[in-house]
Amino acid sequence: MNDKVDSAVFFLDLDRFKYINDSLGHSTGDILLKLVANRLRTLTDLAPFDLDIARFGGDEFAMLVPCSNKKLIANFAKNIMKEISLPYNIDGKELFITCSIGISFYPDHGNDLGTLMKNADIAMYWAKHNGKNDYSIYQNYMTKIPTEIMELELELRKAVEKKEFELYYQPKIDLFTKEIVGCEALIRWNHPWKGIVPPSKFIPLAEETGLIDSIGEWALREACQHSKILQNAGFPELQMAVNISVHQFRQENFVEMIQKVLLETQLEPRLLELEITESFSMVSKKEKIKKLYELKKLGVSIAIDDFGSGYSSLKYLTKLRVDTLKIDKSFIDEIGKSNDTATVLMVNAIISIAESLNLEVVAEGIETEEQMHYLAAHHCAVGQGYYISKPLPFDEFVQFLTDYRKNSLKNVKDAG
Ligand code: C2E
Ligand code: MG
Ligand code: MG
Repeated sequence: MNDKVDSAVFFLDLDRFKYINDSLGHSTGDILLKLVANRLRTLTDLAPFDLDIARFGGDEFAMLVPCSNKKLIANFAKNIMKEISLPYNIDGKELFITCSIGISFYPDHGNDLGTLMKNADIAMYWAKHNGKNDYSIYQNYMTKIPTEIMELELELRKAVEKKEFELYYQPKIDLFTKEIVGCEALIRWNHPWKGIVPPSKFIPLAEETGLIDSIGEWALREACQHSKILQNAGFPELQMAVNISVHQFRQENFVEMIQKVLLETQLEPRLLELEITESFSMVSKKEKIKKLYELKKLGVSIAIDDFGSGYSSLKYLTKLRVDTLKIDKSFIDEIGKSNDTATVLMVNAIISIAESLNLEVVAEGIETEEQMHYLAAHHCAVGQGYYISKPLPFDEFVQFLTDYRKNSLKNVKDAG
């Protein structure tokens, strides 16, 4: 999905408005609606873009937001929620109400107003479904019949308790020495009858429902424990990378949770790397800088995953305490295909940026020898991809490490 859009449609609905109408009477409800509308009008007047706003019926409002920056759009939604949730004074009584907002983007989620409104409405339903007083951006899976989704959610909840998750590990190698320097932990769901479910099929829902917090904590603990086992098995210096979702990062106790797991598992923090994606731009700058600083104080490393695929302010990159940029696979895919030289030049540019900022750079999704040679020749230090190895269950990964070491020793001997 693009990070630049032409505009957004907001569908806003007051939370538990019926309760106010039922308990305090319709006239109070009407006054409250007018007060909400006034606040929305003030907000739209102050907005840096020319908004259209309309009451859509009942306690629903729709807005056309002509802004191309997703981050500004998300901030605007947060502002609305904040403003609406401030107290109202009606006949000397203080009243509170919150709202849920669904957002769809033009042209990503529709080409006509009808479709965009429908999809914003569906996203709003999800914001309500997930606890209200929040905004939700439309995603394809949201159109699925709610019961199907609810079943999946139920199964996902049980999967945590029933220990149906498993981590696979994909090695990362030094592209110059060919030594294995670390690995990335990638989650799989061993579903009782669907078989192995890849993360793309359940992580979005886990994020949307907040279940990602417990799944993510499980994955972190499991990866740290496995990392300790690897150390004891004679691989003391492998760095373990764990993917972190933005939902986890936003939790107030996120840094404490990392610290707790490190203490419990006795893993040296320098051997842990947290991978965060660029969707991370949804977190406020202040919160990001503060949390990354605290994580650095703990001694863990930070990588920006899928770098180049989303919104990343380069100016801002210098302010963030990160250690590594992982070049998105879509760039690596173009190496060796002569038809997209501009994309390949981006690989060189990312490597230069990393070099000048003193950051490590990792290429992910290497599938051919040619790509590996190209990256090494262009000073990309570390690589990962099917060409080296697919992600493997832990036991197979240990076997892979052992065989790899034997083979490289043999190669050294043969060369000597
Ligand atoms: P990611 O972190 O960017 O991980 C890289 C993905 O590319 C993995 O897919 C990996 O299996 C795949 N990959 C690696 N090398 C190659 C290659 O040469 N060719 C191809 N075609 N693919 C390659 P996977 O395991 O399906 O994971 C997808 C995404 O799910 C991950 O992208 C990550 O964003 C997310 N994810 C995985 N595990 C976790 C987790 O424990 N927590 C969270 N929050 N997200 C996770
Ligand atoms: Mg990753
Ligand atoms: Mg990635």
